[in-house]
Amino acid sequence: MQRLLIRGGTLVDGTGAAPVTGDLIVADDRILALGGELAEWPGSRVLDAKDLVVAPGFIDMHSHGDLVVTLPPERQRALQEGRLSQGITTEIVGNCGLGVFPCSAEAMIELRAIVAWMTPADAEEWPRPAWSDFATWSAHLEANGLWANVGAMQPHGPLRVVVAGLSRVEARPELIGLMRRSLEEALEAGAFGLTTGLIYPPGIFTRPDEIEALARVVKERCGGSGFVASHIRGSSETLIPAVEELMAVGRATGARVHHSHNEAVGRAHWGKIPKVLAIEEGARKEGLAVGYDMFPYTAAATMMVAIYPPWSLEGGIDRLLERLGDPASRRAIGEAIDKTTPAWPPWTPDGWPHNLVKAVGWDLVTVGSVGTAANRRYEGMSLTELGRAMKKTPFDAISDLMIAERGAVSQIIHGISGDDAHDEGMDALLADRAGAVCTDANDFGRGRPHPACFGAFPRVLGRWVREKKLLKLEEAVRKMTGHPASMLGLRDRGVLRAGAFADIVVFDPKTVGSTATCADPRRRADGIRRVIVNGRQVWPAEPGIAPPGRFLRRSAPG
Ligand SMILES: [Zn+2]
Repeated sequence: MQRLLIRGGTLVDGTGAAPVTGDLIVADDRILALGGELAEWPGSRVLDAKDLVVAPGFIDMHSHGDLVVTLPPERQRALQEGRLSQGITTEIVGNCGLGVFPCSAEAMIELRAIVAWMTPADAEEWPRPAWSDFATWSAHLEANGLWANVGAMQPHGPLRVVVAGLSRVEARPELIGLMRRSLEEALEAGAFGLTTGLIYPPGIFTRPDEIEALARVVKERCGGSGFVASHIRGSSETLIPAVEELMAVGRATGARVHHSHNEAVGRAHWGKIPKVLAIEEGARKEGLAVGYDMFPYTAAATMMVAIYPPWSLEGGIDRLLERLGDPASRRAIGEAIDKTTPAWPPWTPDGWPHNLVKAVGWDLVTVGSVGTAANRRYEGMSLTELGRAMKKTPFDAISDLMIAERGAVSQIIHGISGDDAHDEGMDALLADRAGAVCTDANDFGRGRPHPACFGAFPRVLGRWVREKKLLKLEEAVRKMTGHPASMLGLRDRGVLRAGAFADIVVFDPKTVGSTATCADPRRRADGIRRVIVNGRQVWPAEPGIAPPGRFLRRSAPG
């Protein structure tokens, strides 16, 4: 039996309770005992944690590592370095309606294009996957090995692409019936719920009745143990009605709802955050179960495809590229970006829920990564700079780059909920008790990833706990551990308790913080000393250990 005695640390248990000083013993994959002075077992390893915080490992409810976690363990390890070294011991994938299951030979062509931006540089299992649905995907992960614990939501995008491709079809009852069935199978096999991505194809074409029909399945199958998470239909002009739309899904179906990466995009909209929090709090008072996650940055990572109007994406990414190759269509798309102010409802044929460029401007959208070596020099440039470098308008420059890269370009967009000088929006989100901290970012081994990949959780502990003193340490830790665990229904993780799984992070509260930036994103966080997953130290890694992560399945209601 493996035993580890962590001696004299400041125990912050993840529930929000005040810290206490004491020992903690790990036996195999569980916490055996904690608190006070505990006797050393013969043969146990001892870790002196004097002046260090001992907390549950961080739970990232929102990642896009769906394909990263399918890689063989050594390659997975390299791409997970930033996550493990910042203390993340559990991640949830399948977010924003984006993902890789279910899939069929036909659907794979479209899915592959949609998830190109979140595909690791060397993922040869895709597009020749070892899976066809949630059950076979999760079996692949279990057979393969995981460094951290992984759970998944069922994304709406692949459900729809399998039955309707990337078309605007209104989902007729028989199509909804097919989607229902595969959602039911995923929930039975352990998915934590459903996610939608209503600014991405195909979510962008989806009407509220389809979402409600699927949310009803989550309620029927999971009761209170599953939830519907949404990248809502807009975070700028349409932010308030989009939040109301999500609340309406909860009201109509009784399902728990979750606002993915709560944010306001663009300076003109930052001031709406208190209103959003008030709407969600009001819905909770009314009896709805409403949760959310947020990333602690004023920049976000996503696909470049998201800057284009929905009608230009009808039929798929290849159709977008064809339209960009045709002078008349290209002109119409460029004019739409310049002139369209999103209005509600956006699911009409010429509607547009979220015009990102209009919300923040060409200066604040930057090229994240590209697939080919020849275009690597453009990574990190704003679209204004890209235009200058290519001697074109920003729109023509990015559209030509999209064609050259077959659409596989990611972006980092700035002006999310604030900027360097104004992060009151971020303060409001962090001070609100209902939110969990997340990364919404992964290192795919290409270009410049989002700095959250290496620093999201330490950044909150350094900047908002130690420097700004906006949050108490135990409250920040709760938003990273016990709170997401309870939203996910994970009973034995996210807390320090005898009998709970030994997912643990040990850090120095005087130095913890992030040094990663958009320009230099792969810089390791400061102050994180040890990270333990199911009793095994993954960072710094024990020599020669097997990947100790587990695949997590939603537990039955009750
Ligand atoms: Zn999203």
